[in-house]
Amino acid sequence: MENKFINKVLSIYSEIDVQVEAFRSAVKLHCLPGCGICCTSTKVDANVIELLPLARELFHRGEAEFWMERAQATRYEGICIFYDPKPPRMGIGHCRFYAWRPSVCRLFGFSKVKDKTGKPRLAVCIVQKNIMPYVVENAEKSISHGIPAPGLTNFFLQIMGIDPSGRLMPINRAIYMALEKYGLEIQMTASINQHNIIETNSAYCVGLEGSSQCIITQI
Ligand code: SF4
Ligand code: SF4
Repeated sequence: MENKFINKVLSIYSEIDVQVEAFRSAVKLHCLPGCGICCTSTKVDANVIELLPLARELFHRGEAEFWMERAQATRYEGICIFYDPKPPRMGIGHCRFYAWRPSVCRLFGFSKVKDKTGKPRLAVCIVQKNIMPYVVENAEKSISHGIPAPGLTNFFLQIMGIDPSGRLMPINRAIYMALEKYGLEIQMTASINQHNIIETNSAYCVGLEGSSQCIITQI
């Protein structure tokens, strides 16, 4: 079940990345090298479902427990636990799990939202606006002239559509819950597999009962 969700989330991430890249190239908008200021906001929200791909990765790496404890230690508040204030090398960025970051981290500063009158406008990053006002102004004009840009709300709704019972919450809580959800799925799968092995052995042994090959007799 979780793997089915994960594939859908990853497919949405691929589409976001394609659209963001096309928009960035068209309007020459970019982040400041080594910036990461948006990651220091305490207001980053995410949906549990969109952190399942990362949860799977952390279980594969054997780091799930470590990150669950870190998320718990924050009381699920404050800066994202994946933010690295001092990356080991220049150019690596501040996100420890950049490839698995949620949708808001992919779209912020490079997508459009509707204003109060329903007109599309840039989801502006204040840092970009201060450092490169002309580029941001050009991006905003391009959006008002109809240049294709990824829709922030559109992608949020696509993510919500995968699991309508989900909701946005502080990112550290979403990380914790995604790890918990994926961990439960692993346990359930292991339990079902164990059950199937016992049943298979039992059925096998029925015909061989009494032979040296029979480990488990009928249950
Ligand atoms: S979106 Fe803005 S704040 Fe975030 S890394 Fe890029 S330039 Fe910095
Ligand atoms: S997941 Fe990565 S990109 Fe998103 S807020 Fe955390 S550190 Fe920043």
